Amino acid sequence: MRVLAQMAMVMNLDKCIGCHTCSVTCKQAWTNRGGVEYAWFNNVETRPGQGYPRTYEDQDRWRGGWTLTRRGRLKLRSGSRLRKLATLFFNPHLPALSDYYEPWTYDYQNLITAPAGDDLPTAKPTAPITWSANWDDSLAGGPELAQHDPILKAMSERIRLEFEQAFMFYLPRICEHCLNPSCVASCPSGAIYKRTEDGIVLVDSDTCRSWRSCVTGCPYKKVFLNHQTGKAEKCTFCFPRIELGMPTVCAQTCVGRLRYIGVVLYDPDRVLEAASVRDEHSLIDAQKQVLLDPHDPSVIEAALRSGIPQDWVVAAQRSPVYSLIFDYQLALPLHPEYRTLPMVWYIPPLSPVVDAVRDTGFDGEDAANLFAAVEALRIPIGYLASLFTAGDPAPVREVLRRLVAMRAFMRDINLGRDPDESIPASVG
Ligand code: SF4
Ligand code: SF4
Repeated sequence: MRVLAQMAMVMNLDKCIGCHTCSVTCKQAWTNRGGVEYAWFNNVETRPGQGYPRTYEDQDRWRGGWTLTRRGRLKLRSGSRLRKLATLFFNPHLPALSDYYEPWTYDYQNLITAPAGDDLPTAKPTAPITWSANWDDSLAGGPELAQHDPILKAMSERIRLEFEQAFMFYLPRICEHCLNPSCVASCPSGAIYKRTEDGIVLVDSDTCRSWRSCVTGCPYKKVFLNHQTGKAEKCTFCFPRIELGMPTVCAQTCVGRLRYIGVVLYDPDRVLEAASVRDEHSLIDAQKQVLLDPHDPSVIEAALRSGIPQDWVVAAQRSPVYSLIFDYQLALPLHPEYRTLPMVWYIPPLSPVVDAVRDTGFDGEDAANLFAAVEALRIPIGYLASLFTAGDPAPVREVLRRLVAMRAFMRDINLGRDPDESIPASVG
């Protein structure tokens, strides 16, 4: 058996407050220069929402997005020779700049000296741009609109209640440093590569010829073209810091301390098989089977034989990423149906459990109401399943039950009660 090591990350979405500290510190470190003003190697999306770049989850190859005809640029018959030629030369399966948002700078002089006004503190995108990053954050301006529009104002009580009931959370995203990276596969120049020592996916600028096939080929849209240099750029998992034993900038500066970085070991010979699984309900299990148990003596022996240093094997044994995926079974991959085997996984959010106490009468932290609470929460399990399990609600429901159980356990501990008596054994 061959064994490779991979840097990976798990993010606990319950702890993200959408402060964008990670985005800003990443930008300062990596994209604070000309040609990549629009690029956020780390971005934080409002969910439900359109994401960044806008509607990246609706792409033609995966679900139906950036196509020759979508923007009405070229209306060519599907499969026609002209369309094939146009695809080859103009690479039209790309987001436009307005899908990322228009970068702006502040007029600092007026920002400081301007008199107080009644302007809303949110920037409203103007035509032709009707959206910008985190535009969904204030529910697209709905509550404010309700105050200013006479018709909406008359309906404002119902609208206010509807907005109060809305479910939302933040989804921080970086490059997934996939085990089966389609950006690497799609580059005609061979300029993108996956490092064998730690699995980090990088661009060789000297070899990049500006084809942008990687932008098209990445389903997560995490490669960006620097339009001044004509070179592709992407998240590097802060490899110069990793090589010095330091965490990534986003993880170190995260206000919520929600990013867990670790080493995982995997079998490269199982990657293609896992990526080829047709049944979407089997996808996560198949992708998990690529990852190896670092405590298994046969894996340790194979890892050392494959040239993985002893201290990396130890790091894999202590990896919070492995624990959160396998021991606690809390972490799920983002869009496993893309089949690139992403290596940034997520613990889905449980936050509205607190509101559920008020809204439903269930106490979401009380183990006696454990299962009833999960089912009664306003959490749209189907929506979370569309993000993390290719639509299968069962694994999401199971993770949420575990999270509720953990809350109940901690509360019993803090109150000096015996958790064994209140938490069902099937969850413990
Ligand atoms: Fe490549 Fe995209 Fe995967 Fe990153 S997320 S490794 S850019 S395919
Ligand atoms: Fe979320 Fe942490 Fe980024 Fe703030 S710094 S937006 S808490 S991931």
